[in-house]
Amino acid sequence: MTRSQKQAASVAAGFIVFHAAALLVFHTGASAVAVAVAVVMYLIRGLGVTAGFHRYFAHKSFRTGRVMQFLLGFAGSLATQGGVLWWVSHHRDHHRYTESDRDMHSPRIFGLWHAHMGWMMSPKCFQTTGANVKDLHRYPEIKALQRHYVWIVLGQIVFFYALGSVLAAVWPALGTSGLQMLVWGYFLSTVLLWHSTFMVNSVCHRWGRAPYDAGDDSTNNWLVAILALGEGWHNNHHRFAGSARHGLHWWQFDLTWIVLRILEKLGLVSDLKVPRPAQIASA
Ligand SMILES: [Zn+2]
Ligand SMILES: [Zn+2]
Repeated sequence: MTRSQKQAASVAAGFIVFHAAALLVFHTGASAVAVAVAVVMYLIRGLGVTAGFHRYFAHKSFRTGRVMQFLLGFAGSLATQGGVLWWVSHHRDHHRYTESDRDMHSPRIFGLWHAHMGWMMSPKCFQTTGANVKDLHRYPEIKALQRHYVWIVLGQIVFFYALGSVLAAVWPALGTSGLQMLVWGYFLSTVLLWHSTFMVNSVCHRWGRAPYDAGDDSTNNWLVAILALGEGWHNNHHRFAGSARHGLHWWQFDLTWIVLRILEKLGLVSDLKVPRPAQIASA
């Protein structure tokens, strides 16, 4: 087996294990605290992917400082969607070669299942050179996030099990346990976010409206926009890829944009790029 074949096989095994582990919620039952942790972690990991991996690292649609940059990369890494450099490299290729055989998750070329999850189980997606993410190589802490990706996965398993165990010991009335917190806070929360994110690649290149001619199959899909924290306005995004705002109209709910505006007010991010109204109108 080659290295990339081993990596693809381990992703396939990981998908099976995580989905099976998420189903353990029917065994552990629920508690308010476990559900709350799952929701909070869905939002933290999700924003790490949307604001961090996608709008910041892949598209540079705003500026931030070195500490905040690391926190965005760390939050995105918690989502267990691959290391930051790997994720960004594939995403930049997605925009550069959209709907061609070099766009590894094009439903038009490879079909819906491959676009959703199948591509991550093919050895080809681990054979990238990473030449298109050289700009990120000058940050050793970002390279470290990529290199120690597996430890971020294992660390979360230990953390959520320990959190539930400690809460069960000191505050039994909460009704949680180590296993319950682990399956809600990590496995279920992560699996649900996976499918929300993956739907941007599958559903949002197949179903929805396309107000702009972006030269590809990208669509706006309101359901994915809600689940994926604003990323479902994907036709807008393909037309204005450098924009930090994907929901371009007040009625296009874009939670990531709302959070970025709050972070801007707090002075943590700056220079949020958005298209001018005239550019939107003429598009
Ligand atoms: Zn796309
Ligand atoms: Zn993008």
